[in-house]
Amino acid sequence: MRLVLVGPPGAGKGTQAQFLAAHYGIPHISTGDIFRANIKENTPLGQEAKAIMERGELVPDSVTNAMVKDRLTWDDAVNGFLLDGYPRNVLQAEVLRAVLAEKRTPLDAVLELAIPNELIIGRLSSRRTCRACGQPATPGAAVCGACGGELYQREDDREEVIAKRLDVYQEQTAPIIHFYRTEGLLITIDADGEISEITERATSALARVKA
Ligand code: AMP
Repeated sequence: MRLVLVGPPGAGKGTQAQFLAAHYGIPHISTGDIFRANIKENTPLGQEAKAIMERGELVPDSVTNAMVKDRLTWDDAVNGFLLDGYPRNVLQAEVLRAVLAEKRTPLDAVLELAIPNELIIGRLSSRRTCRACGQPATPGAAVCGACGGELYQREDDREEVIAKRLDVYQEQTAPIIHFYRTEGLLITIDADGEISEITERATSALARVKA
């Protein structure tokens, strides 16, 4: 299964991606996680991305596209992958289509997690993330449910940055929904509800797509 997960910040992409990647036995490739890991390691890529991410803006396409192109050559991605947080604008979507066309491995589906705007801000401002493994925490948990690590609030989950990220989503990312609808790849599910319910909606919708 070659899958893209799309939706506004706070739609639950990271959470659903973990379950869906395990369900289909494919790697979860999150560009945000890769950038955060690079920031933690203080690599040149991390140094370039840090201030941009803290402002809630997008890292330049040239950097992001090259990073994803390379990641897709890893052995674990030969039988499929789940991209989370990429593509984030139409140019990235076009580059991804070209990269996959060259390998003759087009996308199988693009899953949109749709959520009412009024739920997003509350979800994001209360969200906590594991400092050790980067997984989103269960709401109200004291430590990470996956590894027991310490939880923290991402710099870009502060309220003043959230507004910027939502604007960036509307202006730059939302147009890819139309792009993928036109390509016949878009599947939209309601992302409001219990985590397990949403996973169930996703797997039922994806069962109609070739595995
Ligand atoms: P995320 O973890 O997906 O919410 O991403 C966090 C931040 O990483 C974003 O607000 C951007 O600054 C950066 N980022 C992640 N994915 C991309 C992408 N595909 N293109 C550009 N910037 C990205």
